[in-house]
Amino acid sequence: MRIETDVKLDFKDVLIRPKRSTLTSRNEVDIHRSFRFYHTASEWKGFPLIAANMDVTGTMNMARALGRHGALTALHKHYPEGALAEFFASADGAHAFYSLGTTEADVEKLAAVRKRAELHFLCIDVANGYSERFLDVVKRVRDENPKSVIMAGNVVTGDMTEALILAGADIVKIGIGPGSVCTTRRVTGVGYPQLSAIIECADAAHGLKGQVCADGGCTVPGDIAKAYGAGADFVMLGGMLAGHDECEGEIRYEEHDGERVPVAMGFYGMSSETAMKRYAGGVAKYRAAEGKTVETPYRGPVEGTMSEIMGGVRSMMTYIGATQLKEVPKRTTFVRVTAQTNDVFGKA
Ligand code: 5GP
Repeated sequence: MRIETDVKLDFKDVLIRPKRSTLTSRNEVDIHRSFRFYHTASEWKGFPLIAANMDVTGTMNMARALGRHGALTALHKHYPEGALAEFFASADGAHAFYSLGTTEADVEKLAAVRKRAELHFLCIDVANGYSERFLDVVKRVRDENPKSVIMAGNVVTGDMTEALILAGADIVKIGIGPGSVCTTRRVTGVGYPQLSAIIECADAAHGLKGQVCADGGCTVPGDIAKAYGAGADFVMLGGMLAGHDECEGEIRYEEHDGERVPVAMGFYGMSSETAMKRYAGGVAKYRAAEGKTVETPYRGPVEGTMSEIMGGVRSMMTYIGATQLKEVPKRTTFVRVTAQTNDVFGKA
């Protein structure tokens, strides 16, 4: 047994210190970034935000809505093969990741869709990215899809970030336990404070000219700003994008003045009992659910939330004098505002 005593931080433990700047307006800042990817050498320019590949948020309608802002969506993996092939063959496919797990069926479905449509972005996603098998699948998918940008995760340490990039990932997805509907930290005791995970993994990835995507734990636009400040190239959002018209969640209605109005929408973790019942016929005997089911307020079109997010990021950039999003980490000084990282579990 070993104890690491270095301080590890979460979003709530820091604020970004303002810096002198010559910028006078939020209009002067550019929230887009250009990336050249490590394995494909292809280029992408856009607002580096990704809707999570969860049932509720990783939808085709979300991809269309976020695509209008140059942002991306990781589609959930449960769409049928035909629908995926059709979507990726359309113009909207350029704004979306095709998501898969690590089973043989996942890899075969990918091969079938690939025959019918070009897939620019792949997201290979497992709850625990520390298994040898995961690295093997990343290598195999890289070999079979040399032109696709591959995002793979999730991990929280520099060594595994490097291993994934060398195995074939262009972008490594960072985060174990910070998600809004995740209960991994409670159920297993495993996790890593997200801000420190981003800082450490971004450093490792950038050393190899790879990228990282900070996945989970953002609850307000300021958290997204902090993730970029910590070195995240992309930020993935689940809970912040739930509850919108573009989602595929169950809506709860109430009667108001004789009218039926939407008030809330269901949202659940992909390892929750809800998801396991839906796709695996229930929670297998040998495992515990590591996600929960919640209701989020109904929030109408995602356009409003996107405006808030983009406004928050622009404003952060004017506070620290960054004209380009890529300058943000260099211009970020975090001020620690908590004595220690406690309450790592979030709300029950
Ligand atoms: P959020 O933005 O809601 O805080 O986090 C979204 C992320 O939570 C997802 O992209 C995914 O990595 C993670 N996640 C989604 N469902 C589950 C789950 O059931 N259990 C765990 N441990 N993490 C989940």
